[in-house]
This record gives sequence, structure tokens and C-alpha cells, in this order.
Amino acid sequence: MRYCTLLLISFFCMPYISHSSPADEANKKFDGYKARFVTAMWEVYPAWASSVGYHLYDDKLVIPDAAAREKEIRFCTQHADSLSQFDLSQLNDANKTDYHLIRYQLKYTMWGIKVLRTYEWDPSGYNVSGMFAEMLANDYAPINERLKNLNKKLAFVPAYYAAAKENLKNPTNEHTDLAIQQNKGGLGVLGDDLEQALGKCTLPAAEQKEIRERAKYAVAAIEDYIKWLGKLEHKTPRSFRLGKELYAQKFELELQSGYDAASIYQKALLRKAELHDKMYESTRRLWSKYFGEAIPADKLQAIKKMIDKLSENHVSADSFQTAIEQQIPELTEFIKKKNLLYIDPSKPLVVRKEPAYMAGVAGASISSPGPYDKNGNTYYNVGSLEGWGKDKAESYLREYNKYILQILNIHEAIPGHYTQLVYANQSPSIIKAILGNNAMIEGWAVYTELMMLENGYDVDPKVRGVAASAEMWLMYYKWNLRSTCNTILDYSVHAGNMSKEEAMNLLVKEAFQQQAEAEGKWKRVTLTQVQLCCYFTGFTEICNLREEMKVKQGKAFDLKKFHEQFLSYGSAPVKYIKELMMK
Ligand code: ZN
Ligand code: ZN
Repeated sequence: MRYCTLLLISFFCMPYISHSSPADEANKKFDGYKARFVTAMWEVYPAWASSVGYHLYDDKLVIPDAAAREKEIRFCTQHADSLSQFDLSQLNDANKTDYHLIRYQLKYTMWGIKVLRTYEWDPSGYNVSGMFAEMLANDYAPINERLKNLNKKLAFVPAYYAAAKENLKNPTNEHTDLAIQQNKGGLGVLGDDLEQALGKCTLPAAEQKEIRERAKYAVAAIEDYIKWLGKLEHKTPRSFRLGKELYAQKFELELQSGYDAASIYQKALLRKAELHDKMYESTRRLWSKYFGEAIPADKLQAIKKMIDKLSENHVSADSFQTAIEQQIPELTEFIKKKNLLYIDPSKPLVVRKEPAYMAGVAGASISSPGPYDKNGNTYYNVGSLEGWGKDKAESYLREYNKYILQILNIHEAIPGHYTQLVYANQSPSIIKAILGNNAMIEGWAVYTELMMLENGYDVDPKVRGVAASAEMWLMYYKWNLRSTCNTILDYSVHAGNMSKEEAMNLLVKEAFQQQAEAEGKWKRVTLTQVQLCCYFTGFTEICNLREEMKVKQGKAFDLKKFHEQFLSYGSAPVKYIKELMMK
């Protein structure tokens, strides 16, 4: 349950300073500016506002037409101008990074409208069901109030889809199929889900009737859109591949990395070769412990056989959840013992069974409170395998075997995403909560996997803290190969011409993935761009920053201090954190 407050003010409260320096003045001014920026942004993007818990514009739905794009451009131009009035050198570290995040957001938006123009070729960008589902399922306000807003919003739906049809010029086949599938999938929201909510409300009958009426028109508009997409002629559909130039631009604006796309791709190729070498080394060392026969001459074959063998070491379906739960305090204890990072004991992670609406996803994920819900709990949602077929469960358990399960917990919880979040909340920034850098966030989680193993974390408590076993390392390398190959795949497909067959070879043969996982990855790369690179990019930047700090500080380098300082800047791009740390 989420309680969301509409008050922005608490983020920007500043103590009264009587004799303030020019820098104090500049920061005070910038804090005021940020508040105005966010308030203005929510007016332009009401759906985004609702999704982060700012519910002032819940009754609005932006018709995605030329006028709306004009309004966005005006917003961006105006704020780019306001931003340029500030002297960056006068701002404190937190405001400096916020400044860059806002600047990138404005640039990215303008570029999206003027250059990338997804509104012309991605029909899946038009879908209203998610917002309505959220309003019905999420308890942020009394049901009557939510339904009143939903009623007003429903009135815009026919015009919304009319504008969508007007915008689309030459959509890709892949995004067209996705749009049909997702819009179909969402129809139930304004059917059964809405009926259920109406059953729980106490609105007057006439109002309920109006809602049902409007829902009928909305559903008709969605169905019409689905039919229209199905009948598109599609003689020269746009390719799902972005092309080298657009890809390089998107990479720069989205990841805000210190490296460009082509260099990260080169680094990923080198990392893949390095991982293969290391994996073969571990396999050779382990071979006689697990097999009687001679090791295969083919390197990749030998590694695969060893991975398959080690994957048999997994928990049973009914102890999957408890296995995850038990690891959390073990991880915390290890970090304390090894002095790797301060972990705030007053903010323990709440482990819970995943709520019903997430069911079926299994694995584990972090739910953190939104930027307007400061006192909400952060949960570690742990999926259960209840009701899974025997084969599906077995395959899943082998994938998340005892070794990988540890790495997953490190990544998602401690000292990965959860710990990063606790640190980020210590210097709360509404800007970073909304526009936080994904490469930094994912990069940190991926970095901690390596860091924990370097310090001797192992599944076996007998060797834990001494040195991670060859088994643990081999499985770690396999896991790390995944994000490395995600980057190679994404770049090769969008900036190059990699075929599906070549992609399958990369993922199945060279990255040891299951066929089904690889198929899913191929589908994802045809629908998204750059996103798959954020893990490896952030990871590479953090590892390199650590090496540079070691060189710079020599004997004075302290790993714990490095981690704490790195996290203290919040979810800012690594290149700006680096600038501040190397200062
Ligand atoms: Zn088994
Ligand atoms: Zn992650």
C-alpha cells in the first residue's frame, strides 16, 4: 500500500542562513528552480506524474498530437534557457549532478521529438490500459476519488487513439505486432477490472452509468486501433534496427557515459574473450573433481559441460523462498566483517512473498517507495514456484542454482540495489529520484557481484571469507558474460547488421544461455535500443574509476571509503561522480 503526498516542499526545505555567501545564494536559487522545474514537468507529463505517485493530474490524458509535442518543445527550450542562467561552478556537488541530469533530460526529449521520432514508428507507445490498471489496483486514494478521475480521463481516449493513427507513418513490423498484442491484453482493464471496482464504490448510479458508457467508447477506440494496425499495408516498414548514427546519439543521451557506444562495444568484446579464458581456467581446475573422462578439446564445450554439472546444485522448489530469505543476514554480516561498506542497521530490508499482482515472475525484485512516498517500506519481493509444472520449475531452479542465487541476492539486495537506494535516500534529491542514471544504478549492482567475490564471498560457509571457490567464480563469470553479451548483441544488431542466427550463436554457444532465454533476448533487442547496454557500461565505468583511484591514492586507497564516497552522490552518471571524486 502506498501513501503519496502531494507536497513537494519537504524536499527543498533549507535552513535559514543569515550571512550567506554567493555560493549559498546560488544553491538556494537552484533549489528553488528545481522545485519549479518538477512542478512544471508534471503538468506537461501527467501520466509520468501519476506513475511516480504525484496524483494532481490523474484526470488528464495528453492527446499525443502535434500541439502536445509543441508544448514539450516549449517546456524544454524554456528550461534549457533557465538552466543556462546558473553558474555551474557555484553549485554544490548535489546540485551539480542534478544540473547535468536536467540538462540531459531536456536534450534527450528534444532529440526524441525532432530526430528519433518514435511517435511515427512505434505503435506500442500508444496504450492507455496501464494507466487505468494502476488507478484501479493501486490504493493511493479512496476508490470513489480514483473512479471520478478515471471517468474524466476516459473521455479523452477516442481522441488519443485518433491522434495515434494520425502520427504513425511507417511503423516497424515488430512494434506493430507488440502494439496489437499489448492493446489486446489490456482490454480486460476497462471490462472486468473496472466492473469489480465499480462494485466496491459508493458513487451515485448516474455517475456509474456515465463511467460504463465512456468505458464502452474507450474500448471501441482501442479495438478500432487494433483492427487498424492489423490492416496496415506495410509495404516498406521501417527496420527495427536503429542504425549506427542514431544508436550512437541515443547511447550518449540515455546512458550519459564517459565512453561512446563504439568504445563500450570494443570493451565488451575484450571482456568476452577474457571471461572465456577465465572460465576455461576454472573448468580445467575443476574437471577431475566432477568427471572421470578427459576434458573436451573444444574450450566452449568443456565449459558448458562444467556449467551444466554445477547447475545441478540447486535448492528444491519449496525451499526457494527460504533460501533467499536466509541469505540476506549472511550478506550483511559478511560485509561488516570484511569492512566493505557501512550498512545502516536502522533500515533493514523487508523480505516478503511477492504480492499477487507480480505473481508468475518468480526470482526476486526490489520495490522501493516512490519519490512522493518517503516513509514507505522498501520490499524485497521473493517469488515462489507454487503451481509451476515440474519441468519448468526444474529448468528455473537449475538456472538459479545455489551459486547464481547468491549473485542474484548480491545484485538485487545487499550490497547491490537495496544498499545503493539507502545511500541515495540520505541526500534525497527529487531530480535523482525521477531522472536517476540507469547505467550508474545497474552498474553498481553488477560491480558489487565482482567485489563480493574478490573479497571471498562463497556459497559454502566453510570457505566463505577465505577465497571464493573455482565453482563460484565459474558461475559468476557465466552471469557476468550475460551483461557483456547483452551489450555486444545490442550494438551489433542496431549499429550493425547481426542476424537472428548470429545472435543465437552468440547467446547460446558463447554465453551458455538456454534456447528460450536467448529467444526472449532476441525479441527484446528488436523492440528496445541501448537499454541492454546499461549494465555493462556502468560496470565498466565503476571498475575503471576504482583502478584510477587506486593509482591516484596509492597506499591511502581504502575500499570501504571508496564505496561510501561513490554512493554518497546518489544516482548520478558515473562520469560526473568521477569528476567529483578525482577532484
Ligand atoms: Zn535438479
Ligand atoms: Zn539490476
